[in-house]
Amino acid sequence: MATAAVSVTCLRAVVASSSSSSSSSSCYFYSRRHLPTTSRTPKFAKPHFVSLPSFVASRPLVVAASAMSYDKEFAAAKKAASLAARLCQKVQKELLQSDVQSKSDRSPVTVADYGSQAIVSFVLERELSTEPLSLVAEEDSGDLRKDSGKDTLQRITKHVNETIATDGSYSASPLSPEDVLRAIDTGKSEGGSFGRHWVLDPIDGTKGFLRGDQYAVALALLDDGKVVLGVLACPNLPLASIAGNVTSENAVGCLFYAKVGSGTFMQSLDGSSPVKVHVSDIGNSEDASFFESYEKAHSMQDLTSSIARKLGVKAPPVRIDSQAKYGALSRGDGAIYMRFPHKGYREKIWDHAAGCIVVTEAGGVATDAAGQPLDFSKGRYLDLDTGIIVTNQKLMPSLLKAVRESLEEKSSSL
Ligand code: AMP
Ligand code: MG
Repeated sequence: MATAAVSVTCLRAVVASSSSSSSSSSCYFYSRRHLPTTSRTPKFAKPHFVSLPSFVASRPLVVAASAMSYDKEFAAAKKAASLAARLCQKVQKELLQSDVQSKSDRSPVTVADYGSQAIVSFVLERELSTEPLSLVAEEDSGDLRKDSGKDTLQRITKHVNETIATDGSYSASPLSPEDVLRAIDTGKSEGGSFGRHWVLDPIDGTKGFLRGDQYAVALALLDDGKVVLGVLACPNLPLASIAGNVTSENAVGCLFYAKVGSGTFMQSLDGSSPVKVHVSDIGNSEDASFFESYEKAHSMQDLTSSIARKLGVKAPPVRIDSQAKYGALSRGDGAIYMRFPHKGYREKIWDHAAGCIVVTEAGGVATDAAGQPLDFSKGRYLDLDTGIIVTNQKLMPSLLKAVRESLEEKSSSL
């Protein structure tokens, strides 16, 4: 499995130093690359793993009748995300500077981004061939169709074919570069409030991927505008809780998956027995810890620090990339996730759809900053009021109050 490709075995919460005295002056960055540190251990929730008896784990999960109809799609999604993650792990290992291209928005795009999208599209098409595939995904093949993209396309095609071959269930002849371009371009759907649409971020947290840190392959299915299933493959996330700043467990590579009405499960990417996970049950916000983006540009850290102060949160923020935050939250590694993009940024549905169902099926709540549910039915973008907050049922009222007060203070100070 893929974890064998990950050479670094220790994890450290790096206590960042800063001259500021605010509560955001230190935080924990989760990185695979560092050694454990024992200083300044914050108060974290205990992980909430519920082991399934082996007779349950080895049989199909008992699901609510309402969710039965997505079984085939669920299986296809797990297979697609796991295979895509395998490609990403291989590319991350081999990552060369020349893999990085630039898009008009300057965000890095890698061979793995395109390869991951092509694999997911390929697997969904193969596994669900009876239905037309509508896929809302981040990448398109525009740059790859240019002369300057030819080498990259060759490398993507090679990685895609090698990865598909590792699965063994697809015996057809290898994909041509044109097949790969077509598979990538399946992702051009606009989504919407009717019918079924797959939603994919082929590599969420590209910056984390390039740094060698956290990233996720995030795949969800919308049915009439509602997220009905989601899968998050997090190749660098430790299987053990990342609550606290030391883990003795070295294994990484988590697959989270959730189907409406059926709860959230986690297993290792190499296919161990699933465990049912649950969000933290902390009711006192002083004991809570919170996740936010590693990238300052993705969320206003002065605002989250003000909210955390109001809640009496003592632990420093835990900053990690990607929807791995939703996965970690779903198993109770922390109690809150806050995301407040800078003015003008429009959130995309693929950055939250899979994470949202993973956390809500684990008992959590995800809303915008005004407490409204996230609406995935409006096309490629989320129509949001200001930001996204995620926590458990008990903490949501006080989190909303702190958010409202901090936002009011912020706007009155402008
Ligand atoms: P995270 O790793 O949680 O910081 O989120 C990664 C995602 O943030 C990427 O997949 C991008 O789609 C998204 N993103 C890119 N630019 C911004 C921005 N300026 N503000 C908020 N999110 C962004
Ligand atoms: Mg993303």
